[in-house]
Amino acid sequence: MSNATGASPLYIRIHASDNVAIVANDGGLKAGAEFPDGLRLVDNVPQGHKVALVDLAEGDAIRRYDVVIGYAQKALPRGSWVHERVMLMPVAPELDGLPIATVRPPALPSLEGYTFEGYRNADGSVGTRNILAITQTVQCVAGVTEFAVQRIKSELLPKYPNVDDVVALEHTYGCGVAIDAPDAIVPIRTLRNISLNPNFGGEVMVVSLGCEKLQPERLLPPGSIPIADQRGGTVPDAALDVVCLQDDAHVGFMSMIDSVMRQAEEHLVRLNARKRETVPASELVVGVQCGGSDAFSGVTANPAVGFCTDLLVRAGATVMFSETTEVRDGIDQLTSRASTPEVAEAMIREMAWYDAYLKKGLVDRSANTTPGNKKGGLSNIVEKAMGSIVKSGSAPISGVLAPGEKATQKGLIYTATPASDFICGTLQLAAGINLHVFTTGRGTPYGLAEVPVIKVATRSELARRWHDLMDVNAGRIADGEASIEDVGWELFRLMLEVASGRRKTWAEHWKLHNALVLFNPAPVT
Ligand code: CA
Repeated sequence: MSNATGASPLYIRIHASDNVAIVANDGGLKAGAEFPDGLRLVDNVPQGHKVALVDLAEGDAIRRYDVVIGYAQKALPRGSWVHERVMLMPVAPELDGLPIATVRPPALPSLEGYTFEGYRNADGSVGTRNILAITQTVQCVAGVTEFAVQRIKSELLPKYPNVDDVVALEHTYGCGVAIDAPDAIVPIRTLRNISLNPNFGGEVMVVSLGCEKLQPERLLPPGSIPIADQRGGTVPDAALDVVCLQDDAHVGFMSMIDSVMRQAEEHLVRLNARKRETVPASELVVGVQCGGSDAFSGVTANPAVGFCTDLLVRAGATVMFSETTEVRDGIDQLTSRASTPEVAEAMIREMAWYDAYLKKGLVDRSANTTPGNKKGGLSNIVEKAMGSIVKSGSAPISGVLAPGEKATQKGLIYTATPASDFICGTLQLAAGINLHVFTTGRGTPYGLAEVPVIKVATRSELARRWHDLMDVNAGRIADGEASIEDVGWELFRLMLEVASGRRKTWAEHWKLHNALVLFNPAPVT
């Protein structure tokens, strides 16, 4: 590959059997542009969009990533712009008869000696930040909690310099919902498990209204919060720390605020005593996802993340990939990579559940792909999925989590979530991530208050314009300045720096925090 920013026309073909490639040049190319191999464009083609490498007849399969991503709706001569309006989308692969645990990739050599400075918790997990999180049972208390959080930040936090932040876990659940519906388990366990995220040090405190459906004991039943015992093990903590706003004891608003602040200070004292210690890289729990994707996502950033995923798995860490609608079309690749038939069956179960969920809402998988995706050259969900899956690298998939479940094992885990950036991030927080990696081609300022988010740009042009929002520029791969392996290693090393608190991500620097968005597939009343 030559420099994409230079004048010389350049396309990127992923696989030797592909009959389309994407135009790499900034700003795209005009009709008449000629590539070094003699291919001449017959249409103007925007950057990241596909060009036909051969004459395609009506009905011909269009191949990218060595996969059929669509069929030509009309004859498309060599050099034509191939976009979503001239393509028919293939049907989704059936969930029956899939290859089950058929691929046995050679075991990757283990990666020893990499460490970071983290906060070891009583339950054995490790935090990368030291944050007081205030759990809420219901949206009704959000305003009061936020008022208290502002006071805690200005009056208490300066006294506890080891504590990074105070975060209210605000959400819209808790009342006005069918809490006994079978699917209500998803938002409830999501909230519970977020409260137990390793970055919060097991210091769970709850603000409750009093009359809500999601009572504190239902959210965090006795025994759900592990605390350290004297002998270094853990015991269940029976006493849940709850401030209830409707308590008779509260007379006036300030009584509530004082109560929240008093409770918060008890937790701040203990959090402030936490010390970073050297821990192996195997304690990283990394969630990867993409958002605002373009055709470069699957060429630069996502393959680099995939290489880094393999490094993390080799180091004994946990990596989660998600976004059900963005991997559904590659389900055969995933079930074949499952480490056991049980893992493959669990993946199929999650896909089937999601198919039914979409069907109930009278949509199908084509509901994914945004106008921005299409503008960036991604014609449909099949093409998007092939570029998304590569974030998972090549390691065997050793576990599957249903939405809101918490990971209890290491290795590469499929964590079933919608592709929505906020819902995916929220569910990965519940699954126990202590670091989040986010790739983007169109550009998004996404960030979370609860864990550091490392953002990876797919194109150098975006990395230049958003120089103080993007942490890694994977566009250098398309520019010919770095290999996928180079950027993968750079990301791995950056993760250890960020996890250790030695580096802040740009989203942390600017305090860019998106909302927690719970996935609630159950009815609202
Ligand atoms: Ca996403």
